[in-house]
Amino acid sequence: MGIKQKTKSLKARQNPLSDTFIQLKVLQGQELQAAEFTPFVAKLQTAGEFPLRPVSLDILQINITKQCNQSCAHCHVDASPERREMMSSAHIQKVLELVEKYPIKTVDITGGAPELHPQFRELVKGLYERGVAIMNRCNLTIIKSNPRFADLPEFFKSHKVQIVSSLPFYNANRTDAQRGEGVFEDSIAALKLLNEVGYGVENSGLSLDLVYNPAGAFLPASQQSLEKEFKRQLARKHGISFNRLFAITNMPISRFLEYLLQSGNYQEYMSALVNGFNPAAVANVMCRNMVSVGWDGQIYDCDFNQMLDLNVKSSASHLDNFDFEQLLNREIVLNQHCYGCTAGAGSSCGGEVL
Ligand code: SF4
Ligand code: SF4
Repeated sequence: MGIKQKTKSLKARQNPLSDTFIQLKVLQGQELQAAEFTPFVAKLQTAGEFPLRPVSLDILQINITKQCNQSCAHCHVDASPERREMMSSAHIQKVLELVEKYPIKTVDITGGAPELHPQFRELVKGLYERGVAIMNRCNLTIIKSNPRFADLPEFFKSHKVQIVSSLPFYNANRTDAQRGEGVFEDSIAALKLLNEVGYGVENSGLSLDLVYNPAGAFLPASQQSLEKEFKRQLARKHGISFNRLFAITNMPISRFLEYLLQSGNYQEYMSALVNGFNPAAVANVMCRNMVSVGWDGQIYDCDFNQMLDLNVKSSASHLDNFDFEQLLNREIVLNQHCYGCTAGAGSSCGGEVL
């Protein structure tokens, strides 16, 4: 069964929020009648954590395309099938050179659906040959979307790729409501194929982690309890196993910001993030051990800053002039969306941070 897309990208709809300048204005309470909140930087100053600087640069996250076979309601990348942005061959090659030259431990490949990039397999092979850990953010349905992707589970296995996949819930209603009709069925079929080659199976060494994000304007429940319930339900109903569940807070940007504004939940949601500010989570926010690279080679502190066009505060702000030391000593660029990383138990691409 094919997927019925939830929406089109903000860009295709020419929505004002496709302009990141407008998104930032909304976050500052200066546009679309959005409420104003205490500046995040002021919170960090009070907590004695400003300026925020990295502690390491272990992870290079690369967003190689905005194209995706899905068009989920809350996508913070504004990805969809009609997007065409792809990282150039020269920059794919540059990534391979960087992991050879610098002590980068992990390359985290994301998109869109990264597998749609024509050089995806070449990139993975190159990283594997260079001995760096590879993480791929696979949306699962890509495996079922076209016969040319059917061998992906074997390909991932032979290159020891760690798989991280979104599955908003363990039933069809809630998953399809967020990601499109038919997504749950194809995701379950893909998870079974991954299990068959050993992913998510105890002692196989093949890691399969799932990502949960709330369906609406609320913060995720405890990661531990969600993981337990997902494991129980997926095993009982579908015979599926996986390693860890990451519970991620929805960031108030891009299509989720659109949803918050349209549904009248913006003020309440931002208040929950601001009131939930937890100084202890600041130490482990993901920008402290990574940088994020966009499809066009621009460098950002994290994927969220990338989606707001907030480049790193450094002259090494592009792959073409990458400078490990400079990036390690940069001051991290912060804005109101950063509350999403520090509310409650905190949130990152790897789930809770506490
Ligand atoms: S699968 Fe991921 S990248 Fe693709 S539209 Fe959905 S949230 Fe966005
Ligand atoms: S949004 Fe990015 S820059 Fe802000 S705290 Fe989170 S990881 Fe750091």
